[in-house]
Amino acid sequence: MIKNLLIGVFTITSVACAQAPADPTVYGNSITSEELKELLYTYASDEFEGRETGEPGQKKAVQYLKDQYVAMNVASAYGNDNYFQEIPFERQKLAEATLTINGKEATIYEDYIPPRNVTVDETITEIIYVGYGIDADNYSDYTNLDVKDKVVIIKSGEPQNEDGTYVTSGTKEKTQWTSGRRARRLKIDTAHKLGAKVVFIVDDLGHNYYSKAYMKIDPETYEGRISEFSEEGAPYYFMTNTEFAKTIVPDITTNHTPKTVTTNISYSIKKDIELLSSENVVAYIEGSEKPDELIIISAHLDHLGIENGEVANGADDDGSGTVAMLEIAEAFQQAIKDGYPPKRSILFLHLTGEEKGLLGSKYYADKDPIFPLENTVANLNIDMIGRVDKYHKDDRNYVYVIGADMLSSELYQINEKANKTYTNINLDYKYNNETDPNRYYYRSDHYNFAKHNIPVAFYFNGTHEDYHKVTDTPDKIQYDLLEKRTRLVFYTAWELVNRAQRIVVDKAK
Ligand SMILES: [Zn+2]
Repeated sequence: MIKNLLIGVFTITSVACAQAPADPTVYGNSITSEELKELLYTYASDEFEGRETGEPGQKKAVQYLKDQYVAMNVASAYGNDNYFQEIPFERQKLAEATLTINGKEATIYEDYIPPRNVTVDETITEIIYVGYGIDADNYSDYTNLDVKDKVVIIKSGEPQNEDGTYVTSGTKEKTQWTSGRRARRLKIDTAHKLGAKVVFIVDDLGHNYYSKAYMKIDPETYEGRISEFSEEGAPYYFMTNTEFAKTIVPDITTNHTPKTVTTNISYSIKKDIELLSSENVVAYIEGSEKPDELIIISAHLDHLGIENGEVANGADDDGSGTVAMLEIAEAFQQAIKDGYPPKRSILFLHLTGEEKGLLGSKYYADKDPIFPLENTVANLNIDMIGRVDKYHKDDRNYVYVIGADMLSSELYQINEKANKTYTNINLDYKYNNETDPNRYYYRSDHYNFAKHNIPVAFYFNGTHEDYHKVTDTPDKIQYDLLEKRTRLVFYTAWELVNRAQRIVVDKAK
């Protein structure tokens, strides 16, 4: 009797093993324009108040997403009923500040822009001038320089050879150190990483831009800027211009050699912040064969809130990516019901604070990756896939793909093949360039994964006349396109989770 029973069990098992391979189109076809439309008309409705980070509208949005996953029977990434990755933010208003150098009081916003993330009272008698503040493989201003716990001042620009080429690159093309916001940020971060506690960064263009902007702000009505929560003792910086920097380092324009300068600088800063809480939504499907390896599908859940009494609905930005994710999750869930679970795991990561500076993805990738980054195979990020930009008025059947080949040739090929096999969209690689002036590779959440050498593909329709306006409404979405583009992401994800080998990162940076 027992023997027979066992035989019976084995027979059933072998039938299951011989199951026909899944046909992904069955599940891809479950992603429909009708369902996307229904979801988006809710998600981008006035009820969600523009989903501003930390505000009631955002809380409604995250609750809505959680309810959708619960209804689909998709688990939380935490394995319990908590679908929210809590993230502390702060809303920074204007700080009160005074700065005196060698007995002379500086004028706020005209001479300098103070940090807003500290309350501090300090007098220093020594500042280290680190020249250009560059720390590259073949050139460093920090050689034999100990800046630990020191105050440093950094000039703008990058040294050039006599033939006009830049020292760090040997070419005449601008490098990451040369100028602009990115160079400024890199120099500040480098100094902080090497232990400097305070940075005076000299950047004439940046200073000019921000001082004008700050002088226009009315402190009475200013709501403040949302940013990452800064812990006590976090490093900070002042921004200034060359003119003012001369009061500290008189020969700053002609002398690039680092040196210690004796001075008398005192400053007093009083931050004015309000703590906010916000959350990423984290839903999860565990892989059946390689559960430790996972791909992340992401879209940002937030938008701009209410502007002058009007709700910024953010239907395309990024309601479109959000509802695409829900449909993709549902398609995978349908496959599971039919006995085809994904071999690798999938994290559905709805990100907060994208509009405030990619804060939710930064928090996940830099502070609290729920799953180890080294096991994260790829990130497919969707930000605006429901509209058509001005370059494609006559060719609606397109989507921009950015980043797919930057770290992994295989990811690029897989996406191309999924498209050729199933969706036939014109994949436009116009913005797929790290030096493209629009810098889209850096401008949505995928970048926070790419910088950790996790291959990313970013799906995007480009900007349009309603971009970041209250007129980005669900009636303007082209749902047939949204359906097609969502299916492409699904088929690419399908291959990534089900293929035998994990994709190779052959172009790690
Ligand atoms: Zn967006």
